Amino acid sequence: MSSDPTLSNVLVAASLRSDQWRQLNAAARAWAGAGESSRGAARDACAKLFATAIRLEYCWAYPGERLLGALREALDGSDAGLFARLLQKVSGALLSGDYRRDEATWNTADAADRSILDALPPDVTGVAEKPYFEVLVVTPSDPSQWARAKEEMRRMQRADDAFQYSAVHVGSLEDALLAVMVNFDLQAVVLVDGFGYASRHDVPDLKAFLARHFEARQDSLDPGALATALAGKIKEYRPELDLYLLSDRAPEQLAGSEDAAPIRRMFHHVEEPMEIHLALLDGVKDRYETPYFDNLKKYALRPIGTFHALPIARGKSIFGSNWIRDMGEFYGTNILFAESSATTGGLDSLLEPTGTIKRAQEAIARAFGAKRAYLGTNGTSTSNKIIVQAVCKPGDIVIVDRNCHKSHHYGFVLSGAQPYYVEAFPLTEYSMYGAVPLRTIKQALLDCAAAGTLARVKAIDMTNCTFDGHMYNPRKVMEECLAIKPDLVFLWDEAWFGFARFNPLHRRRTAMGAAAALTKRYRSAAYRAEYEAWAKDAPALDPKDPAALDAHRLPDPDKVRIRVYQTNSTHKSMSAFRQGSMMLVWDDDFHKVQGPFQEAFLAHTSTSPNLQLIASLDLARRQMELEGYALTLKMTDLALRIRQSINNHPLISKYFRVATPEEMIPAEFRPSGLKDYGPPNATWAQTAEAWDEDEFALDPTRLTVICGAAGFDGTQFKGMLAERFDIQINKTSRNSILVQTNINNTHSDAALLIKALADLSREIDTRLSQESPAGKQVFADRVKSLMTDVPDLPNFSRFHDAFRDDPAAPSNEGHMRPAFFMAYDEDTCEYVKLHSADVDARLRDGPEMVSANFVIPYPPGFPIMVPGQIITADTITYMRKLDVKEIHGYNAAQGIKLIKPTALAGRRANSQQ
Ligand SMILES: *Cc1c(COP(=O)(O)O)cnc(C)c1O
Repeated sequence: MSSDPTLSNVLVAASLRSDQWRQLNAAARAWAGAGESSRGAARDACAKLFATAIRLEYCWAYPGERLLGALREALDGSDAGLFARLLQKVSGALLSGDYRRDEATWNTADAADRSILDALPPDVTGVAEKPYFEVLVVTPSDPSQWARAKEEMRRMQRADDAFQYSAVHVGSLEDALLAVMVNFDLQAVVLVDGFGYASRHDVPDLKAFLARHFEARQDSLDPGALATALAGKIKEYRPELDLYLLSDRAPEQLAGSEDAAPIRRMFHHVEEPMEIHLALLDGVKDRYETPYFDNLKKYALRPIGTFHALPIARGKSIFGSNWIRDMGEFYGTNILFAESSATTGGLDSLLEPTGTIKRAQEAIARAFGAKRAYLGTNGTSTSNKIIVQAVCKPGDIVIVDRNCHKSHHYGFVLSGAQPYYVEAFPLTEYSMYGAVPLRTIKQALLDCAAAGTLARVKAIDMTNCTFDGHMYNPRKVMEECLAIKPDLVFLWDEAWFGFARFNPLHRRRTAMGAAAALTKRYRSAAYRAEYEAWAKDAPALDPKDPAALDAHRLPDPDKVRIRVYQTNSTHKSMSAFRQGSMMLVWDDDFHKVQGPFQEAFLAHTSTSPNLQLIASLDLARRQMELEGYALTLKMTDLALRIRQSINNHPLISKYFRVATPEEMIPAEFRPSGLKDYGPPNATWAQTAEAWDEDEFALDPTRLTVICGAAGFDGTQFKGMLAERFDIQINKTSRNSILVQTNINNTHSDAALLIKALADLSREIDTRLSQESPAGKQVFADRVKSLMTDVPDLPNFSRFHDAFRDDPAAPSNEGHMRPAFFMAYDEDTCEYVKLHSADVDARLRDGPEMVSANFVIPYPPGFPIMVPGQIITADTITYMRKLDVKEIHGYNAAQGIKLIKPTALAGRRANSQQ
């Protein structure tokens, strides 16, 4: 499916690789079975495929030079049988991953000799299921010595090592970067000082690609600094890898320098190889360790008499029961043995962690690139409330996407912060919203500045990425906003986006990635110079000047604070149990928040947090730190394949299509002009550039599949996929469903979906071909109603003046909390029926209708009314057209709940009741 064989397609290098070995295997079998007349052509075909397939093989330890050499010999010697048997062995081991555990797969003995191998004693490194990884060695030594060096590293390994590894040797910076990109098995890199820049391999597009990706030009690198420059680049691309440096330079001198920061340990050239071996294992162990989970496992095995609450602990109330023994059978013993209500015995307390939970949190902060991390055990719904309440107090203003998850809105009610609602750009044709344009956010800040309330604007609160996959450019948003107010706090709800840290493409769009990038930028001497040059002639900020909106300003490096909070639903994109959530913090002024954070955390966290959930967060982190790079690249690749398969399929694309970046993001937010992913639309270098610079980008793993042209509305289509095809999806809009690929998805899942779409398309095709003209018209009308007669999404109107400090101010923030509590008093409320003439009369003649509560239809899942909001004709029209069943906060039999005009009359905004 991926027709671009160039290196710029790093994303697909892994799947391309398995495809190539598979093809080669088939060709080898064909050669072995070929008759006299076709033998020559079959061999040539093998030779050609082999040459392509091995182009990048130097990046992996397996199959390695020895096996490749044996294959080459068989090919050169025209031994079709041997070639086919060796290939079968190598491609089989690659595809199954057996090379990670089976020593025999490394041997050049071909499969026919297997019986001899079986008789040999197992190699020390080949036993059991030890996790396997590869170590990249970047070295100036002559390639002829590499085999011996590998063997030495191999001999160092012992049976009781926790992990096993093999080495891959390369001789240049270019080769090293390429290996780091394509080899998912790498966990560590050993840099031996003195290697060169240029690849000795003939990979023509490598140089151009690397130059764009890494901005590391040969001429700008002092040869002595090549190792540290490479270390910096690798850390940027795959921060999880452990880097080691072997150098003749005085290590103690180098060790203190900024250049050496990415390096885990330095060794002097002559040092014991055993030291390096131990360091390699130790580095992986640090990531492998799951302090909380490890301890919980130990705890479960200890004989303990429990006299605390929680009768199910250790299964006692279950296995002895006459009536609920099936509970034990179903859940198994471990989950019950791992239950406890004790916070002693080393299990630590989530509410005041000092031991294993504290260490688990530190590991999470490290893995996700944050300064600190907290665990959420009630979903991001609660994590958001904790963060909002920790950061905001009554009177603070928060500029917030009105479409954000309801937990934020409730957070404002709880904290008394005043939301200043801003609108995302609408995608009316798909009945959904995009994300909030930077200009809108800046306008809100300028409005507050004009109204004299800028000092009260505490935070900007946005969803990144949105349900439908709109990714902000957090770096740009923060830079522009900090130039207006340098101490703003940013809350990035990355509920869907926790995985993004581990994919170098996505990472640039994450809150923590941006926090790191901006910190680096603002602390640099170059930025200070840039700022000073700019500040010399920059006019003072005049919020009333229309030019202020588009003026690019720079934050003052002496005043700017990086204050970034991220929440993520770990359970949505990683291997955590439901409700597992993380709160990540990068706040230069955390000392101001620490106390309130503790209060908010205690206010919202159960005193009996779920232990399994905490353990699963620990494990999710381990997985991502060790294989997140592979998993996230694969899920992205899979998404791209699905996109292309659907949109290029002659039959499917008649009725279904996946919305492209071009369709999901208006051109004004996409200056790169990027229309779609993958060839022929864009190379990966172009995509990376677009993701760096464009205001919004579309996360390719979130696929909006438009089903309106097939005559299905989203809900109907979702039901059909579930009932007929066992495909579960989550979100729908009027004419689309959302399909997301995840770290668990396989090619078979993709095939299942595509097969379902093909079957349905065929059915529709057949049905339409047999339909009368009238029947065809019914179908066309249905499609039109789904695709073009979509209701306009109502914007946030405004808060009633009774909830505004200054009704004349251009900003729209309001006191939602008192409005929320007015609804508790039935005497101050009334109801109007949605479809009644009363509603029309009040829209026309007043008095204004003011919502008493949140009204949240699912989908789209955000409040179309909030407490204290004026209800306008738009909202009523939308409600009347809305064809969803689930509308939280609205009971059709009662009607819309309003605050009575009499209760509003004379109410002063600043009174809290
Ligand atoms: C799902 C979601 C939440 C809530 O997270 P839970 O873990 O389900 O509680 C918050 N914000 C956004 C954007 C979400 O998608």
